[in-house]
Order: sequence, then structure tokens, then C-alpha cells
Amino acid sequence: MRVQVHDTHGVSKVTAYVEQNGAEYPVWQTMRGADASDSTFDFTVGVKATPELKDGPARLIVEATSGGLFHRTEREARDVNVVTQPPVVSADSDQHYLYLGMADLVTMNVTGAYTSAGVRVGDEAFRAWPVPGGKGGMFSLFAFAWNMPAGTTPLVYASNGVGNDVTTPIAVVFPKKEQPVYTLHDIQVTDQFMQKVLGELDPSGTGDRVARFVRINSEMRKANNKTLSELRLKTADRFLWSQPFTRQSHSQAESSFADKRTYFYHGNKIDEQVHLGYDLAGTQHMGVEASNDGRVVWAAPLGIYGNCIVVDHGYGLQTIYGHLSRIDVHEGDEVKRGQNMGLSGTTGMAAGDHVHFAMQLDGVQIDPKEWWDGHWIQDHIARRVDLPGFSSR
Ligand SMILES: [Zn+2]
Repeated sequence: MRVQVHDTHGVSKVTAYVEQNGAEYPVWQTMRGADASDSTFDFTVGVKATPELKDGPARLIVEATSGGLFHRTEREARDVNVVTQPPVVSADSDQHYLYLGMADLVTMNVTGAYTSAGVRVGDEAFRAWPVPGGKGGMFSLFAFAWNMPAGTTPLVYASNGVGNDVTTPIAVVFPKKEQPVYTLHDIQVTDQFMQKVLGELDPSGTGDRVARFVRINSEMRKANNKTLSELRLKTADRFLWSQPFTRQSHSQAESSFADKRTYFYHGNKIDEQVHLGYDLAGTQHMGVEASNDGRVVWAAPLGIYGNCIVVDHGYGLQTIYGHLSRIDVHEGDEVKRGQNMGLSGTTGMAAGDHVHFAMQLDGVQIDPKEWWDGHWIQDHIARRVDLPGFSSR
């Protein structure tokens, strides 16, 4: 550290100390004063001289006492961060088979001091968690989002928040012929559907009806997805489930993950959106089943999703159910796989009675289809970390 002191009477004493976690450690002081009105002092501060310091924030305080008659003392403080050992991260040596819009699990090791660790894919981050069962090491569930640029390499990372950020690539394989092919759909917006959507989602709005509809379909959709994404923080730090996820029984998929929809009104193209879930339709007002054991983290209207339920399954994995005509659970409720949580309907941006079923991983919406597959869960999850009581049926 370099300290510059100005006093026309010179300086009689300069001391420096570090405050951390309520303790105060003297780190340096002048042997003698200086008569000059400007003096510069250099000293070293760190864990070598002060081994009591721990990784994390601290405060460096410098006090200078005037050489004048009254020995006035001035102090200056700076926030500093202590780094005893920068983080080092390594990933497992598996070949990770990735599919666009889907997920995988990586195990990793982090040493040194860090404040966050996990997997980074492009600009998206997925948290790491201690491997369950006290086995040591960390793991992360991560997704390769449906719209992630091809060639993006997922990285495990660890960061201490003060400039040390280390990464290592994960070995990935993208099996070419098994990648999903997203389909295109044209949606004809009828006057009746537009009236329904505007009446429900923009009841006091005025002005151009098409502009209002497009605003709901784009801006409200974006805001709703942000709300869903933020529910990532309401997650359990353990697996709440031990069986494959289920689709709604007795239902047909009317559209699937990442379909690209083009909206037409009276023959004119008015909007384009990507549909990040499955539309599952059966009978009118069918029971909406929890896809797996978990805890309800949202049970309320949510814009285009209408009456909506979100169930957390732990480690950032969540299921989403939209357009319900009735919600029969509350935030905080524990639910069991197959349990009825409400009834399907047409609330929000839905033309016919169905459930919009979606999944998200650490706030990134993913294709649920792998999670319906016990063999995939065995190969990608249960083989790598303890999934207590898992059976692939
Ligand atoms: Zn849908």
C-alpha cells in the first residue's frame, strides 16, 4: 500500500490496521514522523503478516497524526477483500451428451476460497451444490438453452467475487441426428380470441387492439418469464423427488417445446413468439397433476399463463402449469407426484381448455421430455449423484 499524507506541520505518526468480522488487526506503523508537509509511506499488508485474516471483505484503515501542536488525527478507510487462496475448479471427465433445450449434470471440484461456483453456458449461470450424501465435491444441473448459439462450450466456474474467476470447459458431445427439430406454427388470431385476451389481460387499455395484443404477447410474456425465472431462488437444496416426472395422464400434446409461432390477424402477420412448453389437452376442466413430488412456490395468476402453479423439485428444477380454471394449492404446500392441484382451463393467453406444462432449471426454461424418461434420469443424474430411493419407473 502507498499512503500519502499532507500536513503543513508534518506528521508525527501514521498507523494502519485492518478490521474484519469485528476484530481489529494492526498491520503497520511509522517508526518516526516526518517534518515535510507532504510524505509518502509504503508498506505491505496481507495474510503473511496477519495470518488471522480470512477470505472475504475487510476494511483497511489508515490514521495519520499531525506534527502540529494539537496532534490532530485524520483517518481514511477503504473496503478491501482478502484472498488467501484463489479458487481452482475441475470438472468430471465424462463426455456429456447435450441436446438443444435440455439439461445434464456435471460433478466438479472446487478448492480455494470462492463465493460462487457452478456452470456457465453463454450468459447463463447454473449453481453448484454439495454432492448429496456427504460424499464431497460439488455438482451442477445445467441446461443448454434452446436458443444458445451452436458452438457455445459449457464451463464449470468458481469465483471469489474479487477478481478471481476460474473456468474449465466441460467435455460435451452434441449427437447430431438426435437434436430436436423445432416446428413452425401459424396461429390465426380471431376477433373472438383477441377480445378474450384484451378483456382479461388489458381490461382498461385503450387504443389499437392489435398493438395491445402484441404488447401482451411480447412484453407481458417477457415480464411473466422473468417472474418465473426469479423463482429459481425459492428452491430446496436437496432432491424432493425420486421417480421420473410425469406428463398429465389422459392428455394429448397439442404443441411441444420451442415451437415457433407466427401470429396472423385478418391475414396479416402481427407477431412471432417461441412457445417454451407443452400444451396438454384432455377433457374440459381436467385435474392438473403434480408432475413429481415437490413444494409449491407459486399459486396465483401470472399474465399470459393465467392461473398458474409452479412446483419446486429442488436444486433449481421446477415445473410450471398454466391456464388453470381453478387452483387448489397454496404457496408452501408440499405436493405428491400425481396429486391434483387444480383444474385445466383457458385463463391467460389460451384459446382452448388445456394445461401449459413447462419446466425450468435455474430459471432457464427447458424441454421436459428427458425428465419424463426414467432411463435418461438413471444415465444422466442417478449414475452421477445419489438420488435417494430412485427407481426409473
Ligand atoms: Zn402453452
